[in-house]
This record gives sequence, C-alpha cells and structure tokens, in this order.
Amino acid sequence: MADCVFCKIAAGEIPCKKAYEDEEVLAFHDIHPEAPVHILLIPKAHVAAGAAEIDESNSAQVAGCLVAAARLAKELGLTEGFRLVTNNGPHACQTVPHLHFHLLAGKQMRAKMD
Ligand code: AMP
Ligand code: ZN
Repeated sequence: MADCVFCKIAAGEIPCKKAYEDEEVLAFHDIHPEAPVHILLIPKAHVAAGAAEIDESNSAQVAGCLVAAARLAKELGLTEGFRLVTNNGPHACQTVPHLHFHLLAGKQMRAKMD
C-alpha cells in the first residue's frame, strides 16, 4: 500500500533495526520501545490492516508471524516469558493499519491487560 509505513519498512524504503526476516515475515525493533525487548512482527505483504481482517487468505502469513515470535523468544533467551499482542482499531489504540504483533519482554509486566 502506497502510504503504509510498514509496507515502506518491508520494502527497505524506511530503515529499521531488523531482528528476523524470512520470505513472508519481517521482525524489527519498535522505534518507541515500551519494554527492554519490544519487537514488531509483520507480514511483509499488506495482507490485512489488522486482526479483524485475518481469514483463510492470509492465515499462512499470520502463522508465520507467530512462529517467528516463538523463534525469536528462544533466540533471545526470553525464558522468564513474553507478551505477544496485536492492537485492532481505535479502542485498542492501533496506530499503524498494517497487521503486526508486538513481542514485549524483559521486565515484569502488569497482570492487567489495559
Ligand atoms: P500499534 O499502536 O499497535 O498500531 O503499533 C504501532 C507501533 O509501531 C508503535 O509501537 C510504534 O512505536 C511503532 N512504529 C511506528 N513507526 C515505526 C518505525 N518507523 N519503526 C519502528 N517502529 C515504528
Ligand atoms: Zn502496509
């Protein structure tokens, strides 16, 4: 999508600090980290604006993001745990309408989710 910041990152038009990449998935460090580890996992293709658009047509890319998250958690030694979150829509404060998952770790997080 022309004006999508994550499409531009996937295309290499905007730089990122890469954490993982394969054919379908890119993971990079969040520019405004909210935890010692804060990595975003995106499908390289703009297959969905958010989780509400997940369906059979993009489930392989979604699974790819989740598999990459688990792989990163192992590689980074996140043995104390991690949080894997996706925000969808205004109530969840989504700011970038390109499906992405936040991998947060490295500190004790609150039990409350909001
Ligand atoms: P969300 O609010 O769930 O849509 O998450 C979007 C995330 O993208 C935020 O945590 C931003 O800090 C992050 N972000 C926005 N632009 C960039 C960028 N150019 N590089 C890395 N992270 C970004
Ligand atoms: Zn996009």
